[in-house]
Amino acid sequence: MCGIVAATAQSDIVPLLISGLKALEYRGYDSAGIAVLGDGQLKRLRAQGKVSQLELLQQSTPLHAQIGIAHTRWATHGIPSERNAHPHASKERVSVVHNGIIENHTQLREELRAVGYEFSSDTDTEVVAHLIEQQQQVAGLNLVDAVRATVARLEGAFALAVLSTREPERVVGARRGSPLVVGLGEGEGNYLASDVYALLGQTRRFIYLEEGDVAILDRDRVQVLNEAGEAVDRPVKTTTLHSGTVDKGGYRHFMLKEIHEQTQAVADTLEGRIHRGAVLTEIFGVDARELLSNTKAVRIIACGSSHHAALVARYWIESLAGIQCFAEIASEYRYRDVANVDGTLFVTVSQSGETSDTLAALRHSRGSGYLSRLAICNVPESSLVRES
Ligand code: GLU
Repeated sequence: MCGIVAATAQSDIVPLLISGLKALEYRGYDSAGIAVLGDGQLKRLRAQGKVSQLELLQQSTPLHAQIGIAHTRWATHGIPSERNAHPHASKERVSVVHNGIIENHTQLREELRAVGYEFSSDTDTEVVAHLIEQQQQVAGLNLVDAVRATVARLEGAFALAVLSTREPERVVGARRGSPLVVGLGEGEGNYLASDVYALLGQTRRFIYLEEGDVAILDRDRVQVLNEAGEAVDRPVKTTTLHSGTVDKGGYRHFMLKEIHEQTQAVADTLEGRIHRGAVLTEIFGVDARELLSNTKAVRIIACGSSHHAALVARYWIESLAGIQCFAEIASEYRYRDVANVDGTLFVTVSQSGETSDTLAALRHSRGSGYLSRLAICNVPESSLVRES
């Protein structure tokens, strides 16, 4: 899954947008871009490939600004290319970055085309930029109301960060189904990102936005509206995470680092959690002993290499515990109805805890009569862990 970083601050935010994107590289992506507002104009830089490509562009065509949005893209609609890279723009007035999938984009695209909006990408995201522009231009709405009116029309999952030349000192964020956190910059500025790692260089104080929230970021203040448009006080959390957790530690790439770290990672995970040769059940939570003894079947949902790990776990659980176990790809599971035997434990596996299909599968699991939900994940503060 890809990432978002956005900022409005007193000093030049371009370096922090780029370093934020680098901190999100571990999530996987195929292109990157930034958009800033300066002198009343929207300026964008986009590149296929690594954030370092974007950095080279930034060195040859330097951008400096106090407000901007940035993105790493994992293509779902339209090939990885510069023209499909985010941020997308409408009439050089509104610019948007988006994580997730807009399921009803075809219908919205036809509607917008019919009233004269021209599309310059193949993405589902571009409809969001045009809809917000339309709400400002035609309906005369301010940026917050334009974003609210737009998200009301979207089906699917999104985290968004939006800029408009009509309100050049404000970033508006919105989320439903994809993660987004607000970083509070102690008077220096305010920030938005897909996860806290992107902002550890700026702040340790965060607000985790909830489903349907809209965040309004000005340089000196942050307001959060819930889905109904009411101002709400979301709790401010201080993180203990350190940025070192996501660097490559001298290895050429993350996969190589992770392969070499396996013995240490397993040892670290088990440390303090084994007693007389057995894993302490309590580490899974206060009710774990009772829950696990009531477990009659296990369904494990994951993507990619986590799904491969789940396939191994299935062999172990059936052969060692004698409990029926299914392992399934999240992108299939999330779209189908299942029949469960009583006492089925729902397990998700994800390295980042932000894997879009796995999160959707977790939400889809509600109402299917599971005994309980267990997440196996590297990131304790991730969406998957928090929602499980
Ligand atoms: N669906 C959007 C696209 O393909 C966003 C993908 C993402 O989350 O990066 O451009």
